[in-house]
Amino acid sequence: MLRKLAVFALASLFSVSPLLAQHSVSEPVLDVSSMDKSVDPCIDFYTYSCGGWMKNNPIPPDQASWGTYGKLQDENRLQLRSILEEAAKTGAPRNAVTQKIGDYYASCMDETAIEKLGSQPLQPQLQRIAALQSKEQFADYVASSQYPPSLYGGGTLFTFRSNQDYKDSSQVIAELDQGGLGLPDRDYYLKDDAKSVELRKAYLAHVEKMFALIAESADASAQDAATVLRIETALAKGQMTRVERRDPPSLYHKMSALDLAKLAPTFDWNIYFAKTGAGALAALNVVTPSYVKTLNEEIEKESLADWKVYLRWHAVHVAANDLSSAFVKENFAFYGKTLRGREELPPRWKRCTNDVDDDLGEALGQAYVAKYFSPEAKDAALKMVREIEAAMQGEIQSLPWMGAATKEQALIKLHAVANKIGYPDKWRDYSALQIVRGDHIGNSERADWFEFHRWLAKIGKPVDRNEWGMTPPTINAYYDPQMNDINFPAGVLQPPLFSPLSDAAPNYGDTGATMGHELTHAFDDEGSQFDAQGNLRNWWTDADRKEFEKRAQCVVDQYSGYTVIDDIKVTGKLTNGEDIADLGGTLLAYLAWKQSTVGQKLEPLDGLTPEQRFFVAYGQSWCTNERDENKRLRATVDPHSPEKYRTNGVVSNMPEFREAFHCKPGQPMVRENSCRIW
Ligand SMILES: [Zn+2]
Repeated sequence: MLRKLAVFALASLFSVSPLLAQHSVSEPVLDVSSMDKSVDPCIDFYTYSCGGWMKNNPIPPDQASWGTYGKLQDENRLQLRSILEEAAKTGAPRNAVTQKIGDYYASCMDETAIEKLGSQPLQPQLQRIAALQSKEQFADYVASSQYPPSLYGGGTLFTFRSNQDYKDSSQVIAELDQGGLGLPDRDYYLKDDAKSVELRKAYLAHVEKMFALIAESADASAQDAATVLRIETALAKGQMTRVERRDPPSLYHKMSALDLAKLAPTFDWNIYFAKTGAGALAALNVVTPSYVKTLNEEIEKESLADWKVYLRWHAVHVAANDLSSAFVKENFAFYGKTLRGREELPPRWKRCTNDVDDDLGEALGQAYVAKYFSPEAKDAALKMVREIEAAMQGEIQSLPWMGAATKEQALIKLHAVANKIGYPDKWRDYSALQIVRGDHIGNSERADWFEFHRWLAKIGKPVDRNEWGMTPPTINAYYDPQMNDINFPAGVLQPPLFSPLSDAAPNYGDTGATMGHELTHAFDDEGSQFDAQGNLRNWWTDADRKEFEKRAQCVVDQYSGYTVIDDIKVTGKLTNGEDIADLGGTLLAYLAWKQSTVGQKLEPLDGLTPEQRFFVAYGQSWCTNERDENKRLRATVDPHSPEKYRTNGVVSNMPEFREAFHCKPGQPMVRENSCRIW
């Protein structure tokens, strides 16, 4: 099962890819009992909005953080589970879709059969590694290993997939990128603070235990773990940082396969491309040439025996969750507990439900949408999106810092944004993917290869703009700069995030701000470098770009001052796109709400004015409790700021908020040098 970490990260609402629920419509978008009215909203608006929620919603033992979205995701799994259990029943009438998801789920749930196999499913792969005679055979091996090399990062040696050409978004080309690490980021290998040193020690112990599980002796396991850490540390040094990767032009190095071979001659790329099915490539984008060079040097430098150790580790690492409980538990002990602070492994049905969503997401999604998503919800969402877009048009036209020429281009881009709501017009065809009841690991491997080949099959073909990057039950949303589209899966468009029974203000403060957030991504530090067609092309005058960057820097400086935990600060450069989207999106939602209620007399409710209700609903969309370990992990890898600052950072910049709560200059929620871009 592949973990999704796109080469060019989708600008999502938040990072943990989640799922939701058909809630009873009575569940309010704004819940007064979730507030803490003993807190002054002008001092700490987040706690004012969420204090009650945080007290009433402790983190469940199997979770790393627990927030409005995560809670919905968890509840949503119950509905997906009922769909899957029904589909898994033998003897019930089934169609092509329910056969696949039902048999996949039933096989995944058959713990007894999986337990009996132990590490046996991994043996053919380990034998192939043992039989390697020379480094020249690496290409052939990784191109045909049990699980595909790596589509999303974190796999063996590197990441390989396809992507729209940055300079010609109508075409799809092959893309080669950094990868090959077992820890979540290069920084984990290279930082010297006490926590990083401690985590590396824990990682070594984990790798050692995994080697022991495939029957290596204690001495060999310890030595091999050290070899893995040495090789991965060397590879990490060749990788770009997450902040460096927020600059799209520096991720584009289109070259011929011949040039790639010159850059990294020890790896037989032709064999690799042929064996994976990518075929002979005229050109490809080498995202991080520095990494490919480093990889080449390391292949030369390290012995064949030590490379076999690395390959063995990645073989067991990628398969761990599909193997018997000893592997699953050890994998969880490090990645779930040590890295994220979770106390308990989630129950098997939750993990299997996630696996089906990962591997057969549009089949499960089809069943989900039929049962839980109404045409009315789709219409209501589309109406609100159009209002938000109209608000953006007004904002662009009246921006004081942008000249007429750039405004014209910005409007062209705005009008070209495609709105995708709920689910794809055309469902993915899984008929070529064989799902066999009783063969869990086989299903997982075949599903990964199916997905890998699906990406490679796009190379050289025109782009398909109907495709989605998230599955329908997902409680999240995203903007894709190369597609220039905003995407709202069915899961995110339901109570308590949006409710037809709510007064308008909370709906706009919550879901409206989400829509504004995604739309603003089209004009954030990254998105603003892509044009209406999704090409990486500068459509700004130099003077206007300077004005934009000055304002973006205001946001960087603001968020860089916030503390995540201990002495760890938010990396304002890493979170800039999300922070810009939060700020712009909330303002757009506010303007759209005002416009939609022109001429209406709005009454206070639950002791809150309509304006206050808008902002409290925004705050409540971010209510979260989080474990310290997860906070540290996110500070390194997550482009989203902690929820507290996604709330306070935004409102403290907005005069509309000050007015709503009568806050005074000098109070914490009134920033003296307010940032404003869009
Ligand atoms: Zn976002």
